[in-house]
Amino acid sequence: MIILDAGHGGRDSGAVNPKIRVMEKDIVLRITLGVGRGLIRDKYQVVFTRDDDRFITLQDRLLLTRRLKPKLFISFHVNSVVNPLANGYETFIRFSKWRNYQNTIHSEVINYLRQYKIVDRGQKQGNYLVLNNPEIPSILVENLFIRNDYEVGLLTNQNFIEGLVDSYQRSIKTAYEVFS
Ligand SMILES: [Zn+2]
Repeated sequence: MIILDAGHGGRDSGAVNPKIRVMEKDIVLRITLGVGRGLIRDKYQVVFTRDDDRFITLQDRLLLTRRLKPKLFISFHVNSVVNPLANGYETFIRFSKWRNYQNTIHSEVINYLRQYKIVDRGQKQGNYLVLNNPEIPSILVENLFIRNDYEVGLLTNQNFIEGLVDSYQRSIKTAYEVFS
């Protein structure tokens, strides 16, 4: 089983681009559902923490994951800082033992993003609550910056999202088959 976690939802919009009113919760839901559909089509068992626009606490996402014990947990987000020039792609794990999963997913996705001249901000470690499962390979991905004009243009482009979804599907399958 693979758990796909679309960040935020409902009254928690996540990061917002104030100029064009694009919200992180909507972008990550689109990506997450796209990735999940492809995996389900290829006979993987997929559980979504949410598959529509609803609010779920971080604690509930964590408890669900601890209860279901998937072979992989991946949380989808879009980055935001006030500086509109901030840009790029980065991924996080909490426990270094999941570095191989992070390598596989990060390298495949950044390879796709390079054709759009997206900057690689690197593979990082962070104390995210939803990653706090020492026994479950868990990774959080920050897909570009919502306040960056160029990057929000990509995030609202259907062709770009389809390619991004493809790169997640491929790399998740590889990580699942090779490491779990
Ligand atoms: Zn987020």
